[in-house]
Amino acid sequence: MADKSFNAFAMAQQQFDAVAEQLGLDDGTRNLLRNPDREFHFNIPVKMDDGTTEVFRGFRVQHNDARGPNKGGIRFHPQETVDTVRALATWMTWKCAVVDIPLGGGKGGVICDPHNLSMREQEQICRGWVRQVGKAVGPIQDVPAPDVMTNGQHMLWMMDEYEKINGGHFPGMITGKPLGMGGSEGRTEATGYGVIYTLREALKRSDVDIAKTTAAFQGFGNVAQFAIELYAQLGGTTICVSSWDQGDQTSYTFKRNSGVDLKELQNMTDRFGGIDKEKAVAAGYEVLPGEDWIKQDVDILMPCALENQVNAETVQDISDQVKFLAEGANGPTTPEADAALQEKGVFTIPDFLCNAGGVTCSYFEQVQCNMNFFWEKEEVLEKLDNIMTRAFHAVADLAETQDVYMRDAAYMIAIQRVAEACRLRGWV
Ligand code: NAD
Repeated sequence: MADKSFNAFAMAQQQFDAVAEQLGLDDGTRNLLRNPDREFHFNIPVKMDDGTTEVFRGFRVQHNDARGPNKGGIRFHPQETVDTVRALATWMTWKCAVVDIPLGGGKGGVICDPHNLSMREQEQICRGWVRQVGKAVGPIQDVPAPDVMTNGQHMLWMMDEYEKINGGHFPGMITGKPLGMGGSEGRTEATGYGVIYTLREALKRSDVDIAKTTAAFQGFGNVAQFAIELYAQLGGTTICVSSWDQGDQTSYTFKRNSGVDLKELQNMTDRFGGIDKEKAVAAGYEVLPGEDWIKQDVDILMPCALENQVNAETVQDISDQVKFLAEGANGPTTPEADAALQEKGVFTIPDFLCNAGGVTCSYFEQVQCNMNFFWEKEEVLEKLDNIMTRAFHAVADLAETQDVYMRDAAYMIAIQRVAEACRLRGWV
């Protein structure tokens, strides 16, 4: 399904170039913003449980910090590449800018597969990552967070290593920490809920009753599960979800026309978001090929797994019934597919706006750590909803008044904010 020649960074640059041209951005600013400011590539040697030494490759990419410290997750993935990290770092800059929080863009990664690593080995990778790049990250420089296949435990090991090296307590050096250890209420829910806050507003603007809508999801991890939860609370029906099967090394779509039962599916899902096929069949789910999630007759598609899933080829499979695309994942849609979506009249909520709830709550976590005073969950979610709703309408208003595609409108706002920060600092 995914095109092997796909390069997420080339796509991020292509999207940037198109909007920079529309905005008439000067060459100096374009050259500054189309490439990351700094990159770190390094080895992480780990003594494995069997006594051998394995060397993992780690990355940190800092795209731009004109608006504040770099911010972005660390991914553990066997197919991680520096170009994916570059793309994600770039999108983080636009994400923080579009929701107007005072942070820049960064991203990290390690080429590894946590499915095949013990907890001790994963801890050594986390500590090794900090030992290699610890001088360039920190509360006022660059603040990492969890991403695909990393979680609060990984963040805490990283914070602990950083604090050992620097001799003090620095809870603001990383976000996504467990509750009670500097974590924020609402962080686990934030990205998935944020997806639905923006979807709710998009439906309102189009006069569509959310309670009468159906949706198909790709992915059943952190983002998808909480998006499904809030979408169901607002009355929406999720017809299917797809997930990766580690044993078969392929993906499947799990479908039930009457709607999936979130709790039931969660009870048959591993900690990496993989759904157990046999249990799903026993519970009455149809098990279809992984790519079938995109072919369903639903009102809303929510890609919440990987990059490059809605592309020139798969966009042809989208049913005429689909009117909304809410991008929980980063980079799920290629520029070729964007053109086809516009033609079909699909309302797209672009990734770096739609999934900005996570980084917004990470920002709240930093603020709370700085004050050493923590808010109730309701307060966190209310603040999150306000920021997401405001950012969504600013983008939708611009798209409407300038008659531009939602992704272009989001880019226009974000790029202009970052370019202005660079100009005010005297960089360009
Ligand atoms: P996760 O690791 O918790 O879940 C990923 C899910 O995708 C799993 O259910 C997995 O089985 C599924 N998956 C993997 N390959 C698949 C395939 N080929 N077909 C179908 N399903 C597949 O990850 P997550 O945190 O939910 O993140 C998902 C996406 O959202 C990523 O693009 C991530 O960068 C983005 N994102 C996450 C956050 C966050 O706070 N977690 C914030 C912003 C963006």
